[in-house]
Amino acid sequence: MYCLCETPLQSIHLQSDSENPLTCSHCAANLEIGELTISPLVKKAVMQWADHYEQGKLTTKEANDAGHQLVYRLQAALDGRTLVFYIPLLEK
Ligand SMILES: [Zn+2]
Repeated sequence: MYCLCETPLQSIHLQSDSENPLTCSHCAANLEIGELTISPLVKKAVMQWADHYEQGKLTTKEANDAGHQLVYRLQAALDGRTLVFYIPLLEK
């Protein structure tokens, strides 16, 4: 079980939050990225992206561009059974 929902994980929100980049779209529970059946490379990419944004290494626009790319990678890594949505950062 990944979250509070009784159904299998249906959709995920991705956002640039280094503590909790992935949450369940339905119950808003934080998802433990280590528990997801996705490749270590994709996990690493997500964690690095969130860390780099928090450390100020990415502009808001760069973080959003990379976030959209990560959605595709996550979507592919999850075999298309779980939808992934990116929650964009507001550009300053
Ligand atoms: Zn849920």
